[in-house]
Amino acid sequence: MARRKKIYEGKAKILYEGPEPGTLVQYFKDDATAFNAEKKATVDGKGVLNNRLSEFFMTGLNMIGVPTHFIRRINMREQLIRSVEIIPLEVIVRNVAAGSMAKRLGLEEGTQLPRPIIEFSYKDDALGDPLVPEEYIIAFGWASQQDMDDIVALALRVNDYLSGVMYGVGIRLVDFKIEIGRVYEGDFMRLIVADEISPDSCRLWDIATGQKLDKDVFRRDLGSLTDAYTEVARRLGVMPANTPNTSKPTLIN
Ligand code: UDP
Repeated sequence: MARRKKIYEGKAKILYEGPEPGTLVQYFKDDATAFNAEKKATVDGKGVLNNRLSEFFMTGLNMIGVPTHFIRRINMREQLIRSVEIIPLEVIVRNVAAGSMAKRLGLEEGTQLPRPIIEFSYKDDALGDPLVPEEYIIAFGWASQQDMDDIVALALRVNDYLSGVMYGVGIRLVDFKIEIGRVYEGDFMRLIVADEISPDSCRLWDIATGQKLDKDVFRRDLGSLTDAYTEVARRLGVMPANTPNTSKPTLIN
């Protein structure tokens, strides 16, 4: 059998040529990295969980009319996605001060922000993804003013959706990162949510205990990352296919 063509390999995912033009296969690896890949490990099962969780969030977004690249899940580690032209920005939405923002402003982690705050980093590993103002983005032509308005609107809708879904299972959505891609349909260009949405790219805190259920568990050595992600998946009712079904039998009258 001919080997399929690898299009791109990143830190946590691989993209292969898809079965039809305009599609790609996104493969989720078990590799975990932090601090611009200075810290690395293999976390058994992480790719399977993130494939499922990203499917869950992207499907929900598609359902409520927020366009994403997700088409369908293929197997435990792979999903079929639309091929997009990635805008070289990390779009970060924050509801609560944490991580780099808390550090930069000397805020205590956990401080509720007066409103959701959106910030942008230029995607460049060699530069360490520097924070950039909108002025730079437009001046350097990474996105137009119209694109930026659309990106902000998309980011806020994703924030409302994710915050609500997570709140429903007792989890506080502190912050998250998304990436946006361009797709061309005839003469039109549209912006859609791309990459992944998973605990690798969100901060998720248990509302009752404050326990971290995201990649900070790995960044800060707080225990098992697989256990944290499994807990998120369990609460959302998204379990990997090979997990035994532990629900009780139902009596049929
Ligand atoms: N984030 C990400 N990829 C990055 C940088 C940040 O997914 O390359 C996510 C991160 O997991 C967090 C949010 O974006 O949910 C804000 O991250 P922050 O700027 O606080 O950076 P960090 O403290 O993670 O370095």
